[in-house]
Amino acid sequence: MLSVHQAVEHMLTTIKPITESNPISIAQAVDFVLSAPVQSAVDVPSYNNSAMDGFAFRGKDLATSKQLRCIGKSLAGHPFTGVVGAGECIRIMTGAQVPESVDTVAPQENTSEIEADLIQINSPTAVGANVRLLGEELQIGAVVYEAGHRLTPVDIGMLASLGIAEVAVYRPLKVAVFSTGDELVLPGENKQAFQLYDSNRFALHAMLERMGFDVLNLGLVADDPALIEATFRDAASKADAIVCSGGVSVGDADYTKAVIEKVGQVGFWQVAMKPGKPFAFGQIDNTWFFGLPGNPVSATVTLLQLATPALRKLSGEGYNAPLTIAAVAGEPLRKRPGRADFQRGILRFEDGENRVYSAGPQGSGMLSSMVQGNCLIRLSVEQGNVAIGDSVEVELLQNPIK
Ligand code: AMP
Ligand code: MG
Repeated sequence: MLSVHQAVEHMLTTIKPITESNPISIAQAVDFVLSAPVQSAVDVPSYNNSAMDGFAFRGKDLATSKQLRCIGKSLAGHPFTGVVGAGECIRIMTGAQVPESVDTVAPQENTSEIEADLIQINSPTAVGANVRLLGEELQIGAVVYEAGHRLTPVDIGMLASLGIAEVAVYRPLKVAVFSTGDELVLPGENKQAFQLYDSNRFALHAMLERMGFDVLNLGLVADDPALIEATFRDAASKADAIVCSGGVSVGDADYTKAVIEKVGQVGFWQVAMKPGKPFAFGQIDNTWFFGLPGNPVSATVTLLQLATPALRKLSGEGYNAPLTIAAVAGEPLRKRPGRADFQRGILRFEDGENRVYSAGPQGSGMLSSMVQGNCLIRLSVEQGNVAIGDSVEVELLQNPIK
């Protein structure tokens, strides 16, 4: 059985990213993946400007006198056009251009007006203080983003600040989603005692959409090999990837893997993790297949830990391992060696340290643990029981889950 690391490595080396790319307006570009690097076409800032509201002058003049004659002003968008001479200053506002003739700004609160237009500088002010210099943040030609970067809201602001109105991005990935299971009914329908609601498809759909993918929801499919085969063929003709839940275990009604073997190839099956052992990765024509286990926690955790890195690679995005932090177990945690655990935990900052507690019963069908929890406690394959006070690795649950 592959380890989580081996499974992810296998998928990342097998999958080649899509290459189709289009220009897009930055206003529409959040969550899209850059298909080309972005270089700055301007210096940032593009002119020397003041970091404070105050007075601008020649810094060396303070050695002669702390009192300066105010001869004009520079406002944001309305620069001072004259020359500031020895013993003179101008009133200046934050962001306003600092004229060539001066190099220093004293903040308003460190000054007093002795008489009309005679300003006294009350605190020592180093030459060059409070001036933001041309190009100090970015210079023309600087690579601001590499290709493969998924754009966040802050990135959109950065692109706008560089005067960039359009960027080249990969087309969004189309991901088909369906669930299998004769026991499932739709929320809102009448349910008999032996049935349960199809929840996976709703959670998976929402998570994939938050990851920036176009989701094609193919509904709920019965445990019938012919229907599952028809759904796979349909999905493969329309989507870059298929994410389905259920039917990848070893039960009598688990047909998903057998159908993939018939219509495509299975790359690997089963991963040494808990929850989520029955996970299948494969291919139908040019469409990648991620078969998630049916239990709701297993489905969410395998989407996050296994399918997501692969989908992100496919979408043209670079792979970033999840950010994890160290925490101290606030209570004992049960763990058997043999599989890597992703236990749902509640992380709190207490008494100056990160402490993590169990989010409750850890059954792979108990979605409440994901609702209560704010993190996954990542316990290695070899790890046994965790004692109170032991250090553990924690991954915060955030977007796209929370
Ligand atoms: P399976 O992997 O198909 O054997 O499913 C394992 C268990 O997960 C089933 O017995 C159901 O209890 C549950 N399950 C499967 N699919 C779903 C689904 N779409 N939504 C909620 N629970 C599911
Ligand atoms: Mg099933």
